Amino acid sequence: MESTPYLLNSKDRSLAVSLLSKQSFDLLIIGGGITGAGIALDASSRGLKVALVEKDDFASGTSSKSTKLIHGGLRYLKQFEIGLVREVGVERAVVHNLAPLLVKPEKMMLPLRKGDEFGPFLTSVGLWIYDLLAGVRSSDRRQMLNKLETLVAEPQLSAKALLGSGVYAEYRTDDARLTVEIIKTAAKHGALCLNYVEAVDFLSQNNQITGALCKDVSKSNNSVLFEVRATCVVNASGPWVDGLREKAGSLGKKKLFLSKGVHIAVPHNRLPLQHAVYFQVPDGRMMFCIPRHRATYIGTTDTRYSENPGSEKASQEDVMYLLDGVNSTFPQCQLKLTDVESTWAGLRPLIHEDGKSPGEISRKDEIFLSPNGMISIAGGKLTGYRLMAKKVTDKVVGELTKKGISCIQKCITQEIPLQSALVNGQHTHQYEHAKKLVAALELEPWIADNLMELYGAASLSILQNAGQSSSHGDKALILSELKHCLETECIVHASDFFDRRTSRMLFHIDSVRTFSDLILEEMSIYFGWTEAEKESERALLKAAVRSAGCFSP
Ligand code: FAD
Repeated sequence: MESTPYLLNSKDRSLAVSLLSKQSFDLLIIGGGITGAGIALDASSRGLKVALVEKDDFASGTSSKSTKLIHGGLRYLKQFEIGLVREVGVERAVVHNLAPLLVKPEKMMLPLRKGDEFGPFLTSVGLWIYDLLAGVRSSDRRQMLNKLETLVAEPQLSAKALLGSGVYAEYRTDDARLTVEIIKTAAKHGALCLNYVEAVDFLSQNNQITGALCKDVSKSNNSVLFEVRATCVVNASGPWVDGLREKAGSLGKKKLFLSKGVHIAVPHNRLPLQHAVYFQVPDGRMMFCIPRHRATYIGTTDTRYSENPGSEKASQEDVMYLLDGVNSTFPQCQLKLTDVESTWAGLRPLIHEDGKSPGEISRKDEIFLSPNGMISIAGGKLTGYRLMAKKVTDKVVGELTKKGISCIQKCITQEIPLQSALVNGQHTHQYEHAKKLVAALELEPWIADNLMELYGAASLSILQNAGQSSSHGDKALILSELKHCLETECIVHASDFFDRRTSRMLFHIDSVRTFSDLILEEMSIYFGWTEAEKESERALLKAAVRSAGCFSP
């Protein structure tokens, strides 16, 4: 592994900008979502000199707005896409092995009711095939429960027309943290990744793209323009892929279809589920309810979106649709609008297919090669990020080899652990240690699990630092988390910390309200903000909390 000049310390931004502008790269990636992050890691670990620019925060696009499942795609089985079921099913286990705490096994319950498309027998066979294709261990394979067993396991379910359920293995993650951990790992392999840098135009020579004109947008009042030169450019900008293809003069016949998906989070005690549940709602669509520590989240919608990406929001209609779906399946809870603590809306960057509705369009990824040399990638899933990255990097390596640049030809990311790795077999010991440190800080026990998922082994040093500080409890913890994120995760604004590093904005929004002033004060001291800068940061954070905490009419 090469020594690296920039390891995402938030204070070293200007060094990173100057390195981006002064060097010439083998590969420039535009977009710091899961797709771009995956490519940055794959390419840098093969020895390429890589730069990645992200116009907002890492994972601020679709990659922090998903259902946060690393899943095998049961829907593909229904569509008889057997190859795809096998591919993503096997891949789930690979990603779990790379980040065992961040990508956690989660049992999913599929309740079965009279009148559903598939009855217990067909579901049992389907889930059996699903497990088989994904190579699931026999101890983890699907279990079929009868009506009584289902109600014992999940008492909130409506007993009406219930026949039983299937319980099968999936994985839950934190999409934004997964993206950030991949970016950090890519940086350790020498990739120069920077957020708040927008590619505003392309550089070209002899009709070939040779880089991008970029703008440092980290400060609204002081944007700096600079060129990033690269032999190869990959457009991994998710919902913005077509916009950049158009700018590069390479928008072909195939175009994106954007579909909006909304989630809501409610306190866990208002929907106290034991399992993640995947259920059919009255209009025939499927929905997820997923317990996550102090919250349960619910999603998703799937509606065509035709405005500019970036302004998507959850509407009251979206939220009501989700609440109606939940209330019909878990009638004892009768969730109301006032139970909704947070919402998030994301755009699926799908590939347009004539005459198909959002729910029918394939989630497969596709690579577009432009005559000017730019490689664009769209579609796909969080789950398949590593395989998508491999396909794109193979293409990049092919192009670079033609131009005389040599590197490792084979993808090695299946062997590169993500997140601060725990010593093999030490998980239980480290969990116990985290629990003791959490108890010493007089925090609720779920916080230990949450921290281990978010930061892996680094949560132990975060907790130890919190324990040694002059503050106590929640305050000590959040300050220690902030220090960790400032020093190793390149945060620029307070919402980066509250949303995509800690997920508090989605799953514990009250804690954001409680600690806003404290965090702004600490960041202000760290960055040396003027009073005016601090006020502008306060306004930004307020807007982010407002946007997560309520929905547009
Ligand atoms: P993005 O995450 O959107 O990243 C693109 C990035 O490019 C953005 O951050 C953007 O700011 C940046 N960018 C754009 N233009 C520029 C520019 N000019 N310069 C610099 N940067 C730029 N998949 C699963 O596997 N499991 C799930 O449970 C799941 N649930 C989902 C639920 C919903 C509601 C949605 C919408 C999707 C879901 N997906 C799921 C799919 C998955 O989230 C997406 O496929 C994936 O996140 C797309 O990542 P991306 O990196 O391609 O795009």
